[in-house]
Amino acid sequence: MISDKMKGFVANSSAIRAMFEEGKKMAAVYGADHVYDFSLGNPNVPAPEAVKEAVIDIVTNEDPVLVHGYMSNSGYEDVRGALAEHLNGLYGTHYTDSNLVMTVGAAGGLNVIFKTLLNPGDEVLTVTPYFVEYRAYAGNFDGVLVECAADPVTFFPDIADMEKKISKKTRAVILNTPNNPTGVVYPASVIQEVADLLERKSREYGAPIYIVSDEPYREIAYDGVEVPWIPSIYRDTIVGSSYSKTLSLPGERIGYLVIPSEITDSANVMAAANVATRILGFVNAPSLMQRVVARCCAEKANVGYYDRNRKLLYGSLTEYGYTCVKPDGAFYLWMKSPEEDEREFARKCKDEEQILLVPGRNFGCAGFVRIAYCVSYETIRNSLPGFKRVAESYGL
Ligand code: PLP
Repeated sequence: MISDKMKGFVANSSAIRAMFEEGKKMAAVYGADHVYDFSLGNPNVPAPEAVKEAVIDIVTNEDPVLVHGYMSNSGYEDVRGALAEHLNGLYGTHYTDSNLVMTVGAAGGLNVIFKTLLNPGDEVLTVTPYFVEYRAYAGNFDGVLVECAADPVTFFPDIADMEKKISKKTRAVILNTPNNPTGVVYPASVIQEVADLLERKSREYGAPIYIVSDEPYREIAYDGVEVPWIPSIYRDTIVGSSYSKTLSLPGERIGYLVIPSEITDSANVMAAANVATRILGFVNAPSLMQRVVARCCAEKANVGYYDRNRKLLYGSLTEYGYTCVKPDGAFYLWMKSPEEDEREFARKCKDEEQILLVPGRNFGCAGFVRIAYCVSYETIRNSLPGFKRVAESYGL
């Protein structure tokens, strides 16, 4: 018998994954070239050559006992030091190895930080639509995810609604920019508004409300759009990131948390995160990959590849009459469904045109679909006649 809590998680378990599995079955029937799978945020870009070179060099020339051994639960000191230096160079900060915890992807980092911060019943706010797994991650530690509205046009947080949703139980607010699933990037002015609100509310309740900045897409921004470094705007910010998207290493499960010395109770948060990493059973982030990202942290994401896809997809779909949010970052397009129930629209795209999209209600926002365009340019190009026929069938 499985636990009641797991029953809930299984029941709500990822529709995105289900879609991905469906895509594989459809590929067997129609041929892979005739299935247009936009369901999963799995980069279609290979990791930079420097990653391969680093792997080979490390396994060839570094001490194997060190490379494959246990280390501090937070990760190798020299790796954390290298990443801290890299961040300092970018953001003018003064982090050291003791401000970083290496994690098992961004997902591992979120679980570590929620285990560190949450008492049962504590609330974590998120802006709708949001990355589906947040609810489970907070729930893993008996935290409760509370949804705040976004502006229906910009998809920036609705500050008035956020104020209504904050209570004395609010322990953290997750900000995810560049955003999955909308592709929007919050400008500094918006983050400042959130910061002003949280400072006021933290004072009112006499306890810090932390921002947990979930930013695995930080480097993927287009047209020179700036992605603000949130700890420079709001003191009580903890950053979680990974190399899953930017260096195309999602299966390698490597990321990090930044716990700045300036945050409230920093030393305890850092010490607790170190223990959380261990007792969650991760023990430490994958050792070889830690050593690889220390060498490759300055490597650039292949933004040009995604940008080309973005331009083709956004340009074509808007031309066909669809209403889309113009993505400034990440590799997702957030599109309004031409009919009220977006599941029907997604079903039509799948059954009639072999186009796989994810219904927005999986992100807490019905009436929209998410299109993950981290696929090949050809997949997008070949899917366009299908999108066009569907648009025509709705009279767009
Ligand atoms: N946060 C967001 C917003 C994501 O989109 C994802 C993955 O898609 C994650 C976290 C988890 O990333 P990782 O694979 O690095 O654990």
